[in-house]
Amino acid sequence: YDDNYLHENTYTETIELSEAFNKMSGRMKTLDDSKNEFVSNVSHELKTPLTSMKVLADSLLLQEDAPVELYKEFMGDMSEEIERENKIINDLLSLVKMDKTANNANTMNIKSENMNELVEKILKRLRPIAATRNIELVYESIRPVTAEVDEMKISLAISNLVENAIKYNKDNGWVHVTLNADHKNCYIEVADSGIGIPAEAQEHIFERFYRVDKSHSREIGGTGLGLAIARSAVVMHRGAIKVFSQPSEGTTFTVRIPLNYVS
Ligand code: ADP
Repeated sequence: YDDNYLHENTYTETIELSEAFNKMSGRMKTLDDSKNEFVSNVSHELKTPLTSMKVLADSLLLQEDAPVELYKEFMGDMSEEIERENKIINDLLSLVKMDKTANNANTMNIKSENMNELVEKILKRLRPIAATRNIELVYESIRPVTAEVDEMKISLAISNLVENAIKYNKDNGWVHVTLNADHKNCYIEVADSGIGIPAEAQEHIFERFYRVDKSHSREIGGTGLGLAIARSAVVMHRGAIKVFSQPSEGTTFTVRIPLNYVS
C-alpha cells in the first residue's frame, strides 16, 4: 500500500479530530459557564432575603427592652422575607421540573383538557388579587377548545402570564384573557393596560432572573423566573410564546399550543 497516502490521511484525520474536540470542549465550556452563571444568580437571589432577615433579627437583638410593637413590626417584615425565599425556591423547583421534562419527554402528563375550564380555574384564583387594586379581569372564550396538554405545566404558564399582567398593571387597569383556536392550534392571549416593556428589554424577558426593573420586581414579589418557566412549559408542548408591548400603554402575550400533542 501507499505509505504516504496513509500518512497524509491520518494527518487530516488528526486535524479534523482535534478541531472536533476543540469545538466540543468549547461547547462544554459554554455549558459550564452558563451553569456557573445560573448557580451564582441563584445564590445571589437566595441570599437577598436572608440578608434582610439577618439585619432585622440583629437590630432587634441589639435593642434593650424593644417595645412589643417593634417586635411585631420586624417579625412581620421577616415573615414577608421568608415568603419571598419560599417563592424563589418554589419557582426554582418548577424550573428544574421543566428541565427534567425537556430531557425526558416521558415525564409529560398529557391528557385531553377542556381549555376553557382550565383558564377559568386560573382566573377564579387570581380575581381576588386583581380586585385588591381594582383591576378588571375579563375573560372571553371565542370557541370551546379541547387540547392535549399537561394541565399542571400549561396552567403554570398561563397563571404566570396573568399574574404578571396584574403585577405590572396600573391601579384601576384591566387584563383581558382570550381563548381561541383554529383547526390546528389553541391560542391564549393575555393583554394588559400596564406599564409595558421597553423595546430593548423584550428579547430578554424570557431569560432566567432577567427583570426590567429589579427593585420594582422584587418589591411586588417577583423572582425573575416566571416567564422562563412559562416559555419552557409552552416549548415542551411544541408551542410558541410571543410578546407585543408599548411602554406605558400595555403588553400582550400570545401563547400558541398545538391541539394535538406530538412527543
Ligand atoms: P418577575 O418575577 O420579575 O415578574 P418574570 O420572569 O415573570 O419575572 O418577568 C420578567 C420581567 O419582565 C419582569 O421583571 C418585568 O420587568 C417584565 N414583565 C413581565 N410581564 C410583564 C407585563 N405584563 N408588563 C410589563 N412588564 C412585564
